[in-house]
Amino acid sequence: MRKALLVVLFSTFVFSSCTRSAEPYTETELRMDTVCSITVYDEDDRTLISGAFDIIDDVVKLIDIYDSSSEIYHLNENASKESVSVSPELFALIRRAYDMSVLTDGAFNIAIGPLVELWGIGNGGETVPSAEEIEKTLLLTDYNNIILDEENRSVLFLKEGMKIDLGALGKGYAADRIAEYFRENGVESAIINLGGNVYMLGSHPEGREWTVGLQSPDTERGGYFATVACSDSSVVTSGGYERYFETEDGNIYHHILSSKTGYPASSDIVSSSIISRDSTLADMLSTATFVLGSKKGEEIVNQFSLQAVFLLENGDVKRIGI
Ligand code: ADP
Ligand code: MG
Repeated sequence: MRKALLVVLFSTFVFSSCTRSAEPYTETELRMDTVCSITVYDEDDRTLISGAFDIIDDVVKLIDIYDSSSEIYHLNENASKESVSVSPELFALIRRAYDMSVLTDGAFNIAIGPLVELWGIGNGGETVPSAEEIEKTLLLTDYNNIILDEENRSVLFLKEGMKIDLGALGKGYAADRIAEYFRENGVESAIINLGGNVYMLGSHPEGREWTVGLQSPDTERGGYFATVACSDSSVVTSGGYERYFETEDGNIYHHILSSKTGYPASSDIVSSSIISRDSTLADMLSTATFVLGSKKGEEIVNQFSLQAVFLLENGDVKRIGI
């Protein structure tokens, strides 16, 4: 019926070199449906990297909506029936995602779960839903129908079938947690590359800034359209070319959805990269700006006093704060 395909690529490259004073050590594993590659410099304790992968596993156990043993799965199954108390960690993430939903007027939408499930992009079941199905599902994606109780750390859905999806901040959050763990353990330079989320911890071992290349959507892996220099910061990219499927008639449907239309979001941005020491924030904002487009996207990036690079549909590269 369709030429279904799933593309998971690195969106970002870090240019690094090794020197005698700082031998890098890298491990690469598949996690969170993507290639995760972690490099530490000048650090003999190799168990630190396995500790980092354990942190990714912990984050998956917290927020993977498809894993029936995850905390969010339990929440989504039950919060329409009664308010559900969650761990402080999950509640804090939900709070942040809820606030971002309000701030972006739903461009970033914490309640997008039922629509993500309907489209199934990146989860094997890619089909174009009917207009009726979309309309019905959109009734379940209003974040105002999520009630958060700070005191009891509980969550209640006002409609049966609602689901919280934290997929748009998961990799950023995992990167933040790993960066924190590395800092606590004395690591001075590291690259935490979780698919399109890259965290450059500290400065480059040669004492300069890191250079990160942003991958061109159209070229083979290795081609990039811009570079960004930074230190102790993450660069998080969202693009419609990362996960998508194509129908026989050649239409492409990607995985960042608009809860205004019910269809994959379409703006003048092809790829949005946000630079921030707070990778969770950068992850939320890369998704939000991709949905909002360059004008509103720029406003919101400025609101947080961050740097960003947008690749626009017409081929222009818009740099903000750089
Ligand atoms: P990726 O995780 O592929 O790098 P994003 O950070 O942009 O890309 O997150 C996309 C994921 O977030 C989707 O797979 C889906 O689970 C969820 N999502 C899709 N659209 C939205 C949206 N408008 N707001 C919040 N989350 C979304
Ligand atoms: Mg994101």
